[in-house]
Amino acid sequence: MENFKLLELAEQAKENAYVPYSKFKVGAALLTKNGKVYTGCNVEVASFGATNCAERTAIFKAISEGETEFEKIAVASSNDDETFPCGICRQVIVEFSKDLKIILGSTSKNIIKEYTIDDLLPHSFTSDDL
Ligand SMILES: [Zn+2]
Repeated sequence: MENFKLLELAEQAKENAYVPYSKFKVGAALLTKNGKVYTGCNVEVASFGATNCAERTAIFKAISEGETEFEKIAVASSNDDETFPCGICRQVIVEFSKDLKIILGSTSKNIIKEYTIDDLLPHSFTSDDL
């Protein structure tokens, strides 16, 4: 699947975000190595520490369905520009995929950037360090 299409799916998933406090919507679309897409949005609750990011929602949905091999993840947000995954999501990404491509941007602005997890989380702590 092309990056543009995956980013469109992330933008669609963003519309389901439950963000009554920040109003900052984020959507993610995760492409598995066997071609299936899992989407996710951010979900906020009054106890802010229980909030979950769009990236982790998509990844955990995939894991719960037995998927463990991922090709790329697209992320879109309310700012309609590049929105980088937070540190917690970067750590979850590297747990499951050290070669995952991360697609960020906006289809309406034709901004589509591609990164690796090593770009975003160099010198990461992984199971190799245990
Ligand atoms: Zn996050």
